Formats: sequence, C-alpha cells, structure tokens
Amino acid sequence: MQSAQLLGIDENDFVRRTAATFKLGIEFVDWGGLGQRYIHPFGSYGQEMEGVHFHHFWYRQAQAGGALPLDRYSIGVGAARAGKFQRPDPSLVHSPLATIAYAYQFDAALYARYLRELAEAAGTLRVEGRIVDVRLNGESGHVETLLLDDGTVVAGDLFIDCSGFRGLLIEGALGTGYDDWSSYLPCDRAVARACERVADPIPYTRATAKAAGWQWRIPLQSRTGNGHVYCSDHIDDDAALRVLNAGLDGKPISEPNFLRFKAGVRRKAWNRNVVSLGLAAGFLEPLESTSIHLIQSGIARLLTNFPDKRFNTPDIDYYNRRTRIEYEQIRDFLVLHYKATDRDDSAFWNRCRTMVVPASLEQRIAIFRENARLYREDSELFSETSWLAVLHGQNVVPRSHHPIADLLPPDELAARMTRIAAAMEGSVARMPEHQVFIDHYCAIDRR
Ligand SMILES: Cc1cc2nc3c(=O)[nH]c(=O)nc-3n(C[C@H](O)[C@H](O)[C@H](O)COP(=O)(O)OP(=O)(O)OC[C@H]3O[C@@H](n4cnc5c(N)ncnc54)[C@H](O)[C@@H]3O)c2cc1C
Repeated sequence: MQSAQLLGIDENDFVRRTAATFKLGIEFVDWGGLGQRYIHPFGSYGQEMEGVHFHHFWYRQAQAGGALPLDRYSIGVGAARAGKFQRPDPSLVHSPLATIAYAYQFDAALYARYLRELAEAAGTLRVEGRIVDVRLNGESGHVETLLLDDGTVVAGDLFIDCSGFRGLLIEGALGTGYDDWSSYLPCDRAVARACERVADPIPYTRATAKAAGWQWRIPLQSRTGNGHVYCSDHIDDDAALRVLNAGLDGKPISEPNFLRFKAGVRRKAWNRNVVSLGLAAGFLEPLESTSIHLIQSGIARLLTNFPDKRFNTPDIDYYNRRTRIEYEQIRDFLVLHYKATDRDDSAFWNRCRTMVVPASLEQRIAIFRENARLYREDSELFSETSWLAVLHGQNVVPRSHHPIADLLPPDELAARMTRIAAAMEGSVARMPEHQVFIDHYCAIDRR
C-alpha cells in the first residue's frame, strides 16, 4: 500500500468506492492437466528453516511419504478455500496471521473514476478532448503540442502516453517499435462480460483453462466479472463467446465486449520526451493481473528518474532498461503457465506444451527440476512462492532439494512440519468469513 499511503488513500474507502473484494490468490483450474486445480497464493508457504526456503524441507518430507499436501502449509490457500479473510495482524509476531498477503478485485471503471476525483481534488487540470494531431519539434524530434478535435492546442515539456494499445504518441508520432512476444503468449483476443452476483464473493480469482485459452472469474461486491482470453488461430469470436457464456454462474448483465491485442513490449517505454504507461507501453495478458501493477511501478520509476528540460539520456536509458527487465520477468512467469502442462487435448495446448520458451525461463525450470532451487531476481514482482505454486501446481517435480534440508533429524522435521500445518489450520479457523469482514469495514450499499 505504499503508493496508497503516498496519495492518502483510505483502504476501506477505496474498497467501498470500487465495489472491491479482497484477493488471496488465483485458482488455476485445468492448467497442468484436465481435472487438476491449485491456488497460487500471495504470501508464502510454511516458514524458512536453517536459512533455507520451506519448500526444500517439504520436498524431503514428501519424498519420504510424510508430508501433507503443500497447500496445508499456506495460510493464503487455507483461507481462500475456507472463504475467509482478514488483514495481517503484525502484533501476532509468530502467527501466520501476521503474514497474510493480499490484493484486490475491483471494478476498473470505478477505480479510474476514483483516481480521477483524487487527482482533480489535488489540483490536476483536466482537459477533455480527442487528439487529432501530434506535432514534433523540427530539431529535437520531441513532441511539442497536441491538437484536439475542438481546435485546442496543448503544449508541454513532458508527455505521458496513456492512449492504450494504439500508443498515439510513443508509436503513432515517434515510431518507437514494438517487440512481438506472441510466439510465447499466443492468446490475442478476449471477450469480457459481467454477470449477476449469485453468492457471497470468494476471496480469490479463478482462471479456468479452456481448449483455446482460458476464462477468468472475478467476484466483486456488486457483480462478477468474466472474460475469455483466447487465441484466434484456434477459435473464432462466436465460438469464444459461446465458451464464455457457458461458463457464467449468473445471468449476464452486460453485452459482450470483444478486445484484440498482441503480447509484447514497446522497444523503449520512454522515447525523447514521451513516457508510455499502461497498454501504450506493452501488453501482457491478464492471467496474473499485472497491468495495473506495471502502471504503478512505471509511475514510481518515473518519479525516481523525473527529468528536467535537458532529458538526461543515462536516466532515460536506465528507465528503459528496468522497464524491459520487469516486462521480461513477468512474461516468463506467464509463459510458465502455458508451458508446464500435460494437456494434449487440443491443438492450442499441443502448441503451448511444445513451444520454445525464452532462455531465461528455460534456465529457471532446469534449475528447479534439478534441485528445487528458486530465485527472485532483483526484487522482481513474483516471489519464490509464486514460482513454486505454479511449478508444483502444474506438475514440475524436482529431482532433489537443498542439501541443508537433509540435516534436520527426521523426528525433528516431522514435528516442525506438524506444528506449522496446525498453526495454519488454527489461524484460518480464527479468521472471519470474507463477506463478514467486508460487511464490517467496507461494504457497498446493495439495496
Ligand atoms: C482483456 C483484458 C483484461 C485485463 N485484466 C486486467 C487485470 O485483471 N488486472 C490488471 O491490472 N489489468 C488488466 N488489464 C489491463 C487494464 O485494462 C489496463 O491496465 C487498463 O485499462 C489501463 O489501460 P490504459 O489506460 O493503458 O489503456 P485504456 O484503458 O485502453 O485507455 C486508453 C485511453 O486512451 C484514450 N484515447 C485513445 N486514443 C485517443 C485520442 N486520439 N484522443 C484522446 N484519447 C484517446 C481512450 O479513449 C482511453 O480512454 C486487462 C486488459 C485486457 C485487454
């Protein structure tokens, strides 16, 4: 919540105003194989022991036949499955309740309105209009003015391009170029549609793999958001809509909204005096809901590297290098979901299972397969927990584990594992139902 604190956002107010719910993770259904499901939790599994990640001890126990399922050592998974939620309580120092990690499921249109109100209240001047022309300075090549359809001219020193996929300034005016990653992430379309709320919202998102893509289900306080992300090489729009409709658990309350995209990243997120953010900077499909995070981290990076009128090239290069790395790290994590599968029931899944993946991902999988080692490279978004959840959840089994995990005497290890699982179970039992928590702190008026 760092940026929320910076902006003075009250969390309960934000949740209420965006009809949001809390999210402990994502459930993946039918990804590793048909009939299989797992939850990718935020937070961690078990606790680190002897300076080594918990999962190494779990693999040792599992190989000896003495471990409970990995999920039993995660408060995030336990609470999600039980439909419970509370915020972490740091005063409970040794309790899993101190470590609860969460995100939000919210109505993006309400969120945009909410942020706009905050920005305007803080003094931001808003000029509404359609940009019909972008004029460059003849010498520097910098964007100098924007022409709006009513004739208004908007001049500026620094421009932030938030014009979506089209990248009106970064691409349209500056021709920056786009690196196409669709060979790794072949889904290129989506159809979205909301349906009625039919039950209390669960504290997690569900992503169900389909024959030519996957379907999301995001429960809000007001309704349920749904969408089918698919690959147009393998299914047409009408059939994709039929798949979506068949997977709704309530009456549809909006018309289907079709979207087209191409996975990839702008060659330079910052070019001359234009910084692209959001879909103008690149597109990674919403499988792990990362786009708004990328916008926020782009803003934070821009604040760090904020230019003066000289536009210092090393600063811009640094911004672009870090942005690129961030996109590549998230790309690799997303590609893992498609690659690590046993599914061979459709042309789409055969294509994904057998595709060539980025060398950086191939290396991570190879290291994990050998000795269960996982790395979080320079504070990347997805932690070792996330990588473990997907690798384990999609049947990638390591040959061995960290040798330090073998140093604990078997009885001692068994006793510790039992204590950890019991602590998780006891903590989940103490948590309130997700809806009860919402009703107490941040419910919308549903009358
Ligand atoms: C299928 C799908 C699912 C997604 N799910 C998630 C998710 O779960 N989590 C997440 O974090 N993100 C998700 N995203 C991404 C999320 O939608 C974007 O991060 C968010 O919409 C912000 O995008 P944006 O502002 O860059 O672009 P947009 O929302 O496309 O906004 C672009 C704006 O530019 C304006 N514009 C364009 N041309 C002009 C012009 N000539 N003059 C003036 N204005 C112009 C448009 O009117 C529009 O308002 C998803 C995206 C897709 C496609």
